Amino acid sequence: MKITIIGTGYVGLVTGACFAELGNNVFCLDVDSRKIEMLNSGKLPIHEPGLQELIDRTRTSGRLQFSTQIEASVAHGDVQFIAVGTPPNKDGSADLRYVLAAARNIGRYMRGFKVIVDKSTVPVGTAERVGATVAEELARRKMSYGFSVVSNPEFLKEGAAVEDFMRPDRIVIGSDNKAGKYAREQMRRLYKPFNRSHERTMYMDVRSAEFTKYAANAMLATRISFMNEMANLADQVGADIESVRRGIGSDPRIGYSFLYAGAGYGGSCFPKDVQALMHTADEYGQTLKILEAVESVNEAQKSLLVSKITARLGQYLTGRTLAVWGLSFKPNTNDMREAPSRTLIVALLRRGATVRAYDPVAMQRAQRVLMLDLCDEPQAQARLSFVSTQAEALYGADALVIMTEWKTFKSPDLDVLKRSLKVPLVFDGRNLYEPDTMAEFGIEYYAIGRGAVPAYSVPSEV
Ligand code: NAD
Repeated sequence: MKITIIGTGYVGLVTGACFAELGNNVFCLDVDSRKIEMLNSGKLPIHEPGLQELIDRTRTSGRLQFSTQIEASVAHGDVQFIAVGTPPNKDGSADLRYVLAAARNIGRYMRGFKVIVDKSTVPVGTAERVGATVAEELARRKMSYGFSVVSNPEFLKEGAAVEDFMRPDRIVIGSDNKAGKYAREQMRRLYKPFNRSHERTMYMDVRSAEFTKYAANAMLATRISFMNEMANLADQVGADIESVRRGIGSDPRIGYSFLYAGAGYGGSCFPKDVQALMHTADEYGQTLKILEAVESVNEAQKSLLVSKITARLGQYLTGRTLAVWGLSFKPNTNDMREAPSRTLIVALLRRGATVRAYDPVAMQRAQRVLMLDLCDEPQAQARLSFVSTQAEALYGADALVIMTEWKTFKSPDLDVLKRSLKVPLVFDGRNLYEPDTMAEFGIEYYAIGRGAVPAYSVPSEV
């Protein structure tokens, strides 16, 4: 099939490459000419396992092209996927300006029936707004081409996006009205290869499909904040959250997935989607009390390691050097959006610390976003450096802080780690190690929900 993907970011690029791999002829559009130039020179703007090979292969076969040409992109695809960003507005609502701009372009240039697919995460009712925007443009042109707007939210996880897209747990397709019937058939054809072993597609009305995506992310964020709150209590009562996790995860009604305590969730989805859903509820006069708590627990959790560090090393960290391993919001991605490492590093620098940071793939982006986070604080900027190996971060540091569970951090040589640090002290925001093992090696170790820092104290505001 001929399809167009509007927005060549994490979701659009993976969607386009995967559909091309399955034999479709895919046109990827983006307004960012630097990104398109990069892609056309064979380079990737994002780190995603397996994506480079997929793109090399499908570009060579001629089934995948990248362009900034809007008119050509509308002409190309019978199915037009909108996969642009939906960042938060100041009030927490989803900013739909990119989605509606994409819709406007479709209406402006279409010359025949189009299936328009909302793949971006958008609030309930957006498909109607997309439809109205296309209709407005057609009316302006005095044209009456048919179209149908379908909701097809994306559930891929960054870091495993290709695998998730190719082997989805479910495919949700929301469609309405008569034109929607034809659109649904087109979508069924497009997704047929994913349903070979069993039917994974769920068909529903548009509003339910839009809502499903938000409800899924809200549920996942809730599990994380719940476990973080339990972990903080475990610290106080002397329980080990890892034992508790195994103890409750074995219940099939609970399950083991997504039950890890840590330094808080980040990324481009959970924080903004939780906020957008609360905003939608607010518009209908409802308060989502659980999500309010989920968000506030997460905000506090992002600062928890700072509290543990200052409880151990003192409120003022001038003269202290801290090594930070892991900057991206999760492993296998270079995405720094809402990464908890940013909150931690800024707080440490503001307390006077020197920070040496390392990440296997997110260094460039981390450097860019942290310099922006600290744009009014040149003195803090000067105390932040990025080193090229995880070992280099350690030399002479007063402590190691772990913020992302990259595989490469999971089994370090603990003798070397101990010798490299000035003081054998580790703060682990991802519970990578066993407290007993660390104790055997003579390393003082503080993680999440695995034992409180002695004389634990809450830091004053920075
Ligand atoms: P992104 O910021 O990585 O990419 C969006 C791209 O759209 C950018 O390259 C931007 O230049 C481009 N763009 C903006 N306006 C455009 C226009 N009018 N025409 C063409 N291109 C345009 O965003 P993302 O992470 O890929 O997310 C896209 C959507 O998918 C969001 O709604 C997000 O919530 C949702 N989503 C993201 C993930 C994820 O893990 N990143 C997972 C599921 C769903």
